[in-house]
Amino acid sequence: MRLVVDLNRCQGYAQCAFLAPDVFAMHGEESLVYSPRAEEEQRERVARAVAACPVQAITADGLETVAGGASDAAR
Ligand code: SF4
Repeated sequence: MRLVVDLNRCQGYAQCAFLAPDVFAMHGEESLVYSPRAEEEQRERVARAVAACPVQAITADGLETVAGGASDAAR
């Protein structure tokens, strides 16, 4: 599966690195590195990371950002 992290949005909260450590990792305090092509078997973890990201910075193939629907904060 392919995924993209909007690094302009990412605030380095590291939720994703905690939930899907094979896909996301923190480098230093705030910079995130990730695999743009994650294994299919990581799908569930990636889904959790997508849902957990406080700023909805992660977009993944076939996964909608359904974080409870309460975060349509278009400022
Ligand atoms: S959870 Fe979101 S904000 Fe935090 S490091 Fe991952 S992509 Fe960035």
